[in-house]
Amino acid sequence: MTTSSSQPISEALFARARQVTPGGVNSPVRAFGSVGGHPHFIASADGAYLTNADGQRLLDYIGSWGPMILGHNHPGVREAVAEALQGGTSFGAPNEREVLLAEKVVELTREQGVERVRFVNSGTEATMSALRLARGVTGRSHIVKFRGNYHGHADGLLVEAGSGLLTTAEGGLGEAAPSSAGVPQEYAALTLVSEYNDPAALDTLMQQRGHDIAAVIFEPVVGNSGVLIPTPEFLAALHRVRDHGALLIADEVMTGFRLSLQGACGRLGIQPDLITWGKIIGGGLPVGAYGGRAEVMENVSPSGPVYQAGTLSGNPLAMAAGLATLGELQAKPELYEQLERYTAALADGLKAAAQEAGVPLSVNHIGSMLTAFHQEAPHGSVQTYQQAARSDTAAFAGWFRAMLRQGVYWAPSQFESIFVSAAHGDAELNLTLDAARRAYAELK
Ligand SMILES: *Cc1c(COP(=O)(O)O)cnc(C)c1O
Repeated sequence: MTTSSSQPISEALFARARQVTPGGVNSPVRAFGSVGGHPHFIASADGAYLTNADGQRLLDYIGSWGPMILGHNHPGVREAVAEALQGGTSFGAPNEREVLLAEKVVELTREQGVERVRFVNSGTEATMSALRLARGVTGRSHIVKFRGNYHGHADGLLVEAGSGLLTTAEGGLGEAAPSSAGVPQEYAALTLVSEYNDPAALDTLMQQRGHDIAAVIFEPVVGNSGVLIPTPEFLAALHRVRDHGALLIADEVMTGFRLSLQGACGRLGIQPDLITWGKIIGGGLPVGAYGGRAEVMENVSPSGPVYQAGTLSGNPLAMAAGLATLGELQAKPELYEQLERYTAALADGLKAAAQEAGVPLSVNHIGSMLTAFHQEAPHGSVQTYQQAARSDTAAFAGWFRAMLRQGVYWAPSQFESIFVSAAHGDAELNLTLDAARRAYAELK
């Protein structure tokens, strides 16, 4: 473990990257915009650790933003990909591994209603395609999403109601404002925004507009405002959207196969019409998927009229990585308890360390996901995007930088979950909490 903060090679690479790539990165949060400093370029990864281009080892809590639940460079996954590689990298025709992975996903999520699965190449493609399917099936054009939930970067999903536009008094019906340039207002207007964990707002919105709404899409446990856990009352309201003829889409891109083998839906008893996956399902290679009951999914081309295609979809290397990852999780279900124990101990340790240093902190965690919000609220009480947004992001940034200087690589934003992997053990826990105690003390 290093305590050095100098990374001349990463800095040089970042300077070169900015000459040829917007902002020097291929996905914005990697640029460290909200925490300051420059990103570490990663040369390799193994187990719970990354090695940066300057040869420093970092204890990783990002896990490639979710996929690496088994830890980096897992031998079973590496060997499965190496074996697939011997047979060529892409066929543009069906291959057996697609059937095997689809069978595996159906086997694991049949109780959540999944009978058919279509593979795509990213979580973004999965949610975009699931929404097209819902619109095709219902003949309706509007959708509902929740403020602070993230479903990838498709046009209609880059929408959240700005505070001036969200009329919570009237039930949270938001005239939606695009949260990106380049999204036409006309298209964004088809996305209605409600408030997560506010069942009354959702009920009111559905009563007013239910007949227009093709689908309600949600994160079954939110990771993208930091970790937010749904209340039973909110889950009940979500299930009621079906009474209006809308499809319920659980976006399990982050939570699928992470919060249990049956995802957040299995863990929390959610019965959606469609589920979207990404991240773990590809075992670190680019994969997304969507699935549901046969009667819904058979509307997808070539069975039905809803078009969706992909040159590299079902790629043999990606399918091999997904199969090896899900196979390992299925063979060792006790891994989930191990992840849960580690994460609970991490939460307890962070709470104690912050309290000792007099730093306000409110920790939410479930399974192997955790966010430590820098604010006064009681632990576990942050439930909405608005509450999460009260966090002291400057304090978080200072803590993040202090952790990174000590070689602990936390997610570089207050509003992200961290991800614990099966490769995190006692040594990693102790190292993290020692670093955290110093980092909180420094904040004071
Ligand atoms: C990461 C994520 C996505 C987008 O997946 P990409 O593979 O980055 O396109 C969609 N939904 C949720 C809930 C996610 O966490």
